[in-house]
Amino acid sequence: MNLPHLHFHRTRIAPTPSGYLHMGNVLAFAITAALAHKAGADVLLRIDDMDRERVRPEYVQDIFDTLQFMDIPYTEGPRDVQQFELDYSQQVRLPLYHKALEQLREKGVVYGCDCTRTQLAGWNMEHGCPGSCREKALALDAPDVNWRLKTNLVPMLHVNTHEGIVTTTLPAEMTDFVVRKKDGCPAYQLTSLIDDVFYNIDGIVRGEDLWHSTLAQQNLAAQLAFTSFQEVLFYHHPLLMNETDKKLSKSAGATSIQYLRKLGNTSADIYTIIGSLLKPVVNADSWRRW
Ligand SMILES: [Zn+2]
Repeated sequence: MNLPHLHFHRTRIAPTPSGYLHMGNVLAFAITAALAHKAGADVLLRIDDMDRERVRPEYVQDIFDTLQFMDIPYTEGPRDVQQFELDYSQQVRLPLYHKALEQLREKGVVYGCDCTRTQLAGWNMEHGCPGSCREKALALDAPDVNWRLKTNLVPMLHVNTHEGIVTTTLPAEMTDFVVRKKDGCPAYQLTSLIDDVFYNIDGIVRGEDLWHSTLAQQNLAAQLAFTSFQEVLFYHHPLLMNETDKKLSKSAGATSIQYLRKLGNTSADIYTIIGSLLKPVVNADSWRRW
C-alpha cells in the first residue's frame, strides 16, 4: 500500500471500548502509526468511552493488549487501564463538552427534538428531524429531548485532505445531527471534535466510512469557532471487505484480534489476513504489501 507523505505534528488513534478490537481497527491504527512515522508526528491513544452503557472493562484492557500484540506504537496517552480512568477518560473532559453545548445554546444554533426512535424509523430517516421540532421551539432542558444542530447555517464545508482542499456540502443524512442525547450526554460528533481540538490534533486518519462524520464535525467546528480544525489534515483510508463485500463490523466476532489469537495466529499472520482483505479502490497496481 503506497502511503502519501503528509505534514502534521500530532495524530491519534481513537478506539471505542464497546467490543473487542477487530481487523478493521488494526488497519486504521497501523495506517495512522505508519503515516505518523513518515511525518515524524506524535500519536495519541484516545479511548472514546462516553457511551458508559456499552463500555466494559475487558474491552478497555483489550485495547492495550491488542496494541501491544500487533506492535502498534503510540507516543502519548494512557499505558494501562488505571491511568486511562484517572487522566484520559472522556468523563474527565465532561465540563468541556458541556461548555460547548452551552455555547451552542446561547448562540441559538441548536433546537430540541423529542421525536422517538420509532417515529424517526417510520419516516425512514436515520438523522435529522423530519417532524416540525425546529419550529416547535421545545424547551432544551425538558426531559427526553435531543439537541439538534441547525446544520443549514453553515452552507459550505472545506476539508483539508491529502489530495487538497475539498469543498462540499453536508450530506442529507447528517442534516441537523444530534449534539446532545436525550439522557443529557454529549453525542459522538461533539466529543470527538472537542477532544481533537483539546489535544491539538492536526492530522486525522480514519476510514472512508467516517467521511460524513468529518463533514458533520467541520460544520460543528464552524459554529464553535474552532478555526484550527479547518486546518486539520484528513486522510480517509479504504476499508476492509470480506468475500461478500460486506463491511467488517464488530458484530462479526470472527474478525476480532482476540479470536484470531486464540486460533494461534501471530501478529504477522493477522497482518497477512488484513492485507488479503484490503479492497483495491483505484487500481490493483497501486496497492502492495507494506
Ligand atoms: Zn423531532
